[in-house]
Amino acid sequence: MRECLRSYFSKLFAGDLAAFGGPTTEELVAGYIRAEQIALVLRHSLGIMLANACNATVLAMALWNSPDGMIAALWAATVVCGATFLGVKARASRRVAKPQFVSRKSIHRLVRNAFILGGAWAIVPVGFFANAANGGQLVMTCLCAGMLAGGALTFATIPVAAIAFTAPIFVGTAICIGRGGDFVYFLVAILVVVYACVLLRGVFSYSFEFTRRLIAQLEADKAVRQDSLTHLPNRFAFDESLERGLSRLARCGEKFAILLLDLDHFKEVNDQFGHPAGDEFLIQVATRLRRCTREEDTIARIGGDEFALIATNLTKSEEALELAERIVAVFADPFRIDEREITGATSIGIVLAPRDGSTANDLLKHVDVALYRAKKAGPGTIRFFEPGDDASTHERRALQHDLEAAIERNEFFLVYQPFLDLRENRVTGFEALLRWRHPVRGLVPPAEFIPIAEESGLIHSIGEWVIRRACATLSHWPEDVRIAVNFSAVQFENANVLQTVVRALAEAGISPRRFEIEMTESMLISKYGSASSVLKSLLQLGVTVALDDFGTGYSSLTYLRKLPFSRIKIDQSFVRDMLTQPDCAAIVKSVIGLAQDLGIGVVAEGVETKEQLAYLRQTNCVEVQGYLIGRPVLSDQVFALLDQGSRKAEHAA
Ligand code: C2E
Ligand code: MG
Ligand code: MG
Repeated sequence: MRECLRSYFSKLFAGDLAAFGGPTTEELVAGYIRAEQIALVLRHSLGIMLANACNATVLAMALWNSPDGMIAALWAATVVCGATFLGVKARASRRVAKPQFVSRKSIHRLVRNAFILGGAWAIVPVGFFANAANGGQLVMTCLCAGMLAGGALTFATIPVAAIAFTAPIFVGTAICIGRGGDFVYFLVAILVVVYACVLLRGVFSYSFEFTRRLIAQLEADKAVRQDSLTHLPNRFAFDESLERGLSRLARCGEKFAILLLDLDHFKEVNDQFGHPAGDEFLIQVATRLRRCTREEDTIARIGGDEFALIATNLTKSEEALELAERIVAVFADPFRIDEREITGATSIGIVLAPRDGSTANDLLKHVDVALYRAKKAGPGTIRFFEPGDDASTHERRALQHDLEAAIERNEFFLVYQPFLDLRENRVTGFEALLRWRHPVRGLVPPAEFIPIAEESGLIHSIGEWVIRRACATLSHWPEDVRIAVNFSAVQFENANVLQTVVRALAEAGISPRRFEIEMTESMLISKYGSASSVLKSLLQLGVTVALDDFGTGYSSLTYLRKLPFSRIKIDQSFVRDMLTQPDCAAIVKSVIGLAQDLGIGVVAEGVETKEQLAYLRQTNCVEVQGYLIGRPVLSDQVFALLDQGSRKAEHAA
């Protein structure tokens, strides 16, 4: 009970409207409201102190010839001194930047000072009214009424302070005037009471309105700065924190670090377990991240599966590394979502300010580069930005710039690598492989420019060029020869790819059965959701699909059931080592068996030696591809290979 009362009075004297039945708020919000209340009081304080000093002087002058003239002058001098002191103090406080949080004690002090000042004015009617002449009494009544109005205005947002200031004045005035004996005086006393009641009522309704508006504004501010799913600060709030960090760095040299996190395989969580599970995963990640960071750090969700952390006051790179390692470690335990255990990991890029940049733009660009390197190195990797990275980003940007004009400048061409059917001993088709002849750099390998094309979106136009060129070339080949075209995952995100294939096949006048799409397993797993509808439409057309580089991604046996693949291509890494490493031989053999059981084709990639070919023949592999059979060639050499291919096979057999 006592504790309850204490808490109530502490709130009451802290200007908290909850004490008067107003909205209850958390202490952080209440502190913010107090800061706004004090700021408003300070805004009026200089004027009101000046008014106090002037009014006290006027009163002393008006009472100078009365019996209490001397005491009134003394009183006035005290009020002038007090008002000057408080005015100067208030002015000094206004110079300091407005705080975001003000303690209850500050308002307690304000209420106390308001009461002392109100008490000082209450002395006027109590001490001087009775002995004053009519004129003096009139001045006193006017001044007290003026002080009541001024006080109510100054403390309009803090009712308890308004009461503390006005109550002594109006009680003193009403009693002393009312005691005058005259009926008119009595009426004036009643007027003063009514006047004070109206003023306080105004104070209450204004302060309630003010607080509600502040709370609404705070909530709106929060919504703008908060990620609605994880309740972490969002990109906007992160940018503001970064700006604050940079200004602290400029002002007092306070260094900081930015850690950029990208969850590994988040797309797979979404695709395999559905979006609600993906959301739950992000919420749990946010909770773990919050737990391993300090109060003063800002951890924000700045994109789908991207989080960023500003770690303040970090002076050494080891400290940033330690923090990053702590973050990687919080992913060690699996996440429990819907009775399932889902493993997660994050890659982290780190920059230190000012070492790696002193503008938001530079720091964000560099931390992105560091993260890119971390992602490339594999899940759960941490990488600092290195000055050399800048050169490699520059290089990538230059390549991307040149890539943009490559189609127009006719710098692309296709080469064709044969598939040899081991049962029929003939070349059954060719894989179209893209080549880029750069005017300065010469031939740029696809492994270098395809990822850039994928990231920049250029792959859509490049892919379209490849499809059209491959179909046009195929139209000159024998009917029983097919063409295989490599597709990137992102190409399936654009539904136009379907139209492109249909149109290219129609223009070249070839059957869809002769057109094969090669896609990798990892691409299937990450993009299965969006890819499936476009892929299924392509399959309905009669186009076939081969699973490229089989064995290098994750286990896609499930997908083998979901999509009707016509062929599996065993990755060349297994073929290369199958004669020396029993595990590779086992994988090759079982994939061939798996394809047989599923009733689909199988191609062994990267066959370079006769021994490899002989082994594959012996294990009943259907088709082979590799330098032994034929290197990728220009279209005009395809016919030569078609004749030569079967002779080579017979020879090797
Ligand atoms: P991939 O589809 O697995 O293509 C096979 C790669 O292995 C080709 O490299 C080919 O030249 C090489 N290769 C073939 N036989 C042998 C061999 O016996 N030994 C060795 N060591 N290598 C062999 P390339 O042409 O550099 O292509 C690399 C990758 O680039 C391709 O891998 C494919 O994923 C991608 N790519 C190529 N053209 C395109 C395209 O038009 N579109 C897309 N999206 N990707 C393409
Ligand atoms: Mg391929
Ligand atoms: Mg391959």
